[in-house]
Amino acid sequence: MICYFRMKWKYLYVLSIVTLMGNIAFSGIYIVCDDDGSNPVTTKAHVLAAFADANRYLRQVAVTVNVTEDSIQYINRSAWKDLNRTNANYRQTLRDMRATPRNGSLRIFFVNTCNGSFRAGLNTDYCLAVAKNASGITLAHEICHAGGLSDIYIQRDSLSITDAGMVKEEYMPKDWSGYYPPDLQHTNLITRLLMYGYIVPDMGDIPLGRVYGVYRPMVSGRLQPPVKGMAPVGAQDLKRPPQHLD
Ligand SMILES: [Zn+2]
Repeated sequence: MICYFRMKWKYLYVLSIVTLMGNIAFSGIYIVCDDDGSNPVTTKAHVLAAFADANRYLRQVAVTVNVTEDSIQYINRSAWKDLNRTNANYRQTLRDMRATPRNGSLRIFFVNTCNGSFRAGLNTDYCLAVAKNASGITLAHEICHAGGLSDIYIQRDSLSITDAGMVKEEYMPKDWSGYYPPDLQHTNLITRLLMYGYIVPDMGDIPLGRVYGVYRPMVSGRLQPPVKGMAPVGAQDLKRPPQHLD
């Protein structure tokens, strides 16, 4: 996730992340177009609507990503329109996308498709991309990745917690209240979380603390193989403001 295209500093617009803690960060929001500047993947109106939708989820943890029309830029890179990890140049493309101005934090790209049909967004250490058809949930999920949260799964590779049974305090000690449907299975609680690793209709919850599940720990910036344990998917582990590396 390296490298970058040449961009003059004067084209760096500002995105402010406002939290109740008063944190503000800067970055760029880009709509990808063809090399000749034609065929933007989406409109500024769509981008504004996506952020408004994402903020409906992020406000659970007192975060509002404040975006104006002027803060959205077009960027001419045909090769960035469809990000698919089966493409031979996928890694180089991500490195190239990193190359946006480096004094900021979040770099967000709206693209045509992202990793084929099964994912709508991705986040790396250096940038974030969402498909034009992605909902605000996907955008909020990826922004939380930029804040250090992990995906959580019921099953990943050979690991599974399908036998976890009913929700209980040890699975989510920071959030335990007893105010749950009496028959709620822990696996059904996981699919409600914003950081659930797949897109499902009723996801969106951001818990206070860690939740038991399958996740991939991050060690020195590298994702490790999946483990069963307390996944960092809540406000306790969310770095403010969410950030990308320079
Ligand atoms: Zn994710």
